Amino acid sequence: MPLGYSLRCKVCNTPLRPQIERWATEEGLSCQAISKRLKSEFGLAISHNSVWQHIREHFNVSAEVKARAAQSLSGSEGQFEQAVQKRISEIQMLADVIRGNHELYIKAKAWLDEIVSARERPPATLVELLSVVASELRQAAKQKQELLGEDAMSRLADGVATWAELVDAVGQEPALPPDAAPGDAG
Ligand SMILES: [Zn+2]
Repeated sequence: MPLGYSLRCKVCNTPLRPQIERWATEEGLSCQAISKRLKSEFGLAISHNSVWQHIREHFNVSAEVKARAAQSLSGSEGQFEQAVQKRISEIQMLADVIRGNHELYIKAKAWLDEIVSARERPPATLVELLSVVASELRQAAKQKQELLGEDAMSRLADGVATWAELVDAVGQEPALPPDAAPGDAG
């Protein structure tokens, strides 16, 4: 990234300018070493003072270093950024699934509780729905937990598992005979 130019600068006016700048940056050669190398490799006489002046006045070292660092980083940084974005959208999607399923679960569970407290046999479809929703909740919570390493989600997943077991138990329970209802006793 040449930033300056001077008609009177020998380094600016040699086709070896990029080579000289690479020696100074990538190879970290001193101005004296560069001057010697120009003489020995190319028979070019440029004093170390001229090299030093060029580097100082016509070449922005820090901008060059930053530009190259950014160039070499852009590959891996871009991939990292992409992976982060992908993970965030996965977590958001799972959070949506969990929220939606959780609302459904709460409503279905309230309905089931009503049916059970009325000592009626819950419809198989309701029990099945609860079981499916609970299973999806567990799975989504587990995935989200894996993506986040989140403890609260782990506890929610455990809570859901308990609910699912309860629902399964209720579903398997035979309907109570009418004469066993508490109101009929005595
Ligand atoms: Zn120059």
